[in-house]
Amino acid sequence: MQQLGTDAFLRIESVVKDFGDFRAVDNVSLEVARGEIFALLGSSGCGKSTLLRLLAGFEAPTAGRIVLDGQDLAGQPPYARPVNMMFQSYALFPHLTVWENIAFGLRRDRLPRAKIAQRVEEMLQLTQLGRFAQRKPHQLSGGQQQRVALARSLAKRPRLLLLDEPLGALDKKLREQTQLELVNILKSVGVTCVMVTHDQEEAMTMASRIAVMSEGRLLQVGPPADVYETPGTRFVADFIGNVNLMDGRITVDEPDRVVVECADVTHHIGHGITGYAGMPVTVALRPEKISIGAAPPSGTQGFNQVQGRVAALSYFGSFTLYHLQLASGAVLKVNVENEDRHAEGPAVGELVWAHWRPTAQVVLTQ
Ligand code: ATP
Repeated sequence: MQQLGTDAFLRIESVVKDFGDFRAVDNVSLEVARGEIFALLGSSGCGKSTLLRLLAGFEAPTAGRIVLDGQDLAGQPPYARPVNMMFQSYALFPHLTVWENIAFGLRRDRLPRAKIAQRVEEMLQLTQLGRFAQRKPHQLSGGQQQRVALARSLAKRPRLLLLDEPLGALDKKLREQTQLELVNILKSVGVTCVMVTHDQEEAMTMASRIAVMSEGRLLQVGPPADVYETPGTRFVADFIGNVNLMDGRITVDEPDRVVVECADVTHHIGHGITGYAGMPVTVALRPEKISIGAAPPSGTQGFNQVQGRVAALSYFGSFTLYHLQLASGAVLKVNVENEDRHAEGPAVGELVWAHWRPTAQVVLTQ
């Protein structure tokens, strides 16, 4: 586990959650720093919402502890925790105005009337909803409803904010716009935030660190760039971004020269993992780290290059994705940036050479 030490505001310690004989959360340990935006990422059913519900207090852990700012939350009901959760559906009250929706929790807590008014005005300003204060939720756009839900969940000044697919109800374009807006709001109030999403781009855009979950376990935790550049497992490499995965065997394992033989490619990896000759491994290679040309570059001694025929290409504006058919029948995906719109790339059916640097590859043992 990545230890934050004294900075940790939230500590999840060896938490397990069983539903009958099904283990939804399997021995998860995690630390989140004060003021951090942290994302739990994983495919449907991996246990990320259950972990969020454990933090909120809607579920109790079967084993383990959750500690917030030094205080064990065991036995504390949701309403007594300094924690608030914003749901994907927003759960706004349809018959109440924006103003009343934001004030709802504060009224329930019996805050003085003047205090409520002041807090609601603050939230309206923060989320730029001032001119919609008297509207009902159905008179708002999806993005505006999302901001009302956020304003309502921040009004009580929670110390920990939980976001369950916060932008899940918005269309793609609006989602992208709203991601940075949401981060700015969260940063300006300085709240610690754990969000759940299945959208990796969203997690990578919004969070300072992400955790990839699968089958109830945390597979990898780290800043988005670290998880993307140095995935620790085949699952993580495949889940975050696009990747070529090539199975092979380590044939040379000298300290400064590791060679992995795969069906189509002999990979030369510049750094040592000694003592593993003969071991089956997977080499992960991102499509944008591969170049293509009519001939292989000189001086490669046959390493980190392969010839393939263009089987398909897809134009994505800023780059073109090539599918190269290799001798074994495997497909190598290559992204070529479209820097110069006049430059013509290879066409379907052409034979090309793909090549990459030793540092572009990651060797995975699991
Ligand atoms: P999604 O993205 O689809 O919401 P998730 O990763 O958030 O998925 P969870 O909702 O945490 O997944 O569920 C994890 C697993 O636990 C699922 O297999 C689910 O069926 C199971 N589960 C969740 N809640 C319960 C419950 N109350 N009783 C029994 N099983 C449950």
